[in-house]
Amino acid sequence: MTPATKLSLGCIADDYTGASDLANTLTRAGLRTVQTIGVPADDLALPEVDAVVVSLKSRSIEAGLAVTRSRAAESWLRGRGASHILFKICSTFDDAGNIGPVMDALRADSSDSIVLVTPAFPETGRTVYQGNLFVGSVPLNESPLKDHPLNPMHDSNLVRVLARQSKTKVGLVDLATLSRGAEAVRARLAELARGGIGAAIVDAVFDRDLETIGQVALDHRLSVGASGIGLGLARALVAAGKAKSDAATAMSEAAIGGPAACLAGSCSQATLRQIANAGKVMPVLHLDPERVIAGREEAQRALAWARDRFGAGPILIASSSTPEEVAALQSRHGRDAAGHAIEQAMADIAEGLVQSGVRRLVVAGGETSGAVVDRLRIPGFLVGAEIAAGVPVLRAVGAGNGEMVLALKSGNFGGPEFFSDALALMP
Ligand code: ADP
Repeated sequence: MTPATKLSLGCIADDYTGASDLANTLTRAGLRTVQTIGVPADDLALPEVDAVVVSLKSRSIEAGLAVTRSRAAESWLRGRGASHILFKICSTFDDAGNIGPVMDALRADSSDSIVLVTPAFPETGRTVYQGNLFVGSVPLNESPLKDHPLNPMHDSNLVRVLARQSKTKVGLVDLATLSRGAEAVRARLAELARGGIGAAIVDAVFDRDLETIGQVALDHRLSVGASGIGLGLARALVAAGKAKSDAATAMSEAAIGGPAACLAGSCSQATLRQIANAGKVMPVLHLDPERVIAGREEAQRALAWARDRFGAGPILIASSSTPEEVAALQSRHGRDAAGHAIEQAMADIAEGLVQSGVRRLVVAGGETSGAVVDRLRIPGFLVGAEIAAGVPVLRAVGAGNGEMVLALKSGNFGGPEFFSDALALMP
């Protein structure tokens, strides 16, 4: 492990789930990718990787803070040799968010005359035509995003949306230009830049459009977009022979071994079914949520139960209950208090399990996973094979606890045998 790995691609993501999605997309496209939680320490030791995705929570914070944190991430990534940086935003864009201010700051640092911007990701139904973002078959402002609680979108024209947020003038590279190939796009960008335009929304309707965009973006030091442009950049890097090795080999390196455990804090239908199925092949302990809220003894009881068993094979500890039981608990204690207490109990249990030697950990539940990862103080993950769509095996990097693999899934993800499927890919 050496801090000298030179990155082909550095990414700054404005939220955690977007970062995971991008890291997974880059890995599937053939880049060895690490996702970090926040801006890493200067001396973080990395394995040989092509890309690092720094996950920030900068989407809904004050703009000045978002700029400061993004620039800290930028400087870390450039320090690791990243010649191109992708500022990863949500594929549905943000009307009143920090995209413009962060783009302006990163652009000034990069000295690029013009930045390519596209949130298009056709495989997830996000396409851009004449600068208008479509979600499936409808323009953004007619999609359910018009009613989003944090970022309601009332304008589908991204040239206008970005111009309202940015200090620079915004132009368009349309689909007709894109369909004529990389040279035509380069010529159009040069023309826009000569006109004093500093950012261009780029249309994209098909995967091949993303490939053209990726190819052209690599001429620049900065681009802005969602996982779709990440895919385009990754394909361009692989085509140019700049990817170090096939990502699929990354996780097939040495097996971790050691005891395995699963934790479930999600109460989704999918997770409830997965827990029931896991019960056929491994011991399952159902926590008593009332006792969890009453104090820390319930977590200690669970740990003692686990330590008696994990030498013989994987185990599962679940707080999950049916919607009726969840509603009853919430009405007695309040939703936030109940959720927080259970998340902290799960974090206590995860910490105790790792201290007792567990090296393979599967966690079901988005908030639950966040609480566990925070407690284990894991600075980042090397992304591996996909267990289920959007849920890769993760190998901890730079953690104080030594080698470890995890699978973190939000509630609804994964097939009915998710826990066994995950463990099968985590030898
Ligand atoms: P998902 O990905 O399914 O949304 P999360 O972990 O994000 O799962 O959220 C589940 C929330 O429910 C967490 O805050 C968790 O602590 C809480 N929780 C878990 N078990 C129970 C329970 N039995 N009753 C009430 N809340 C629970």
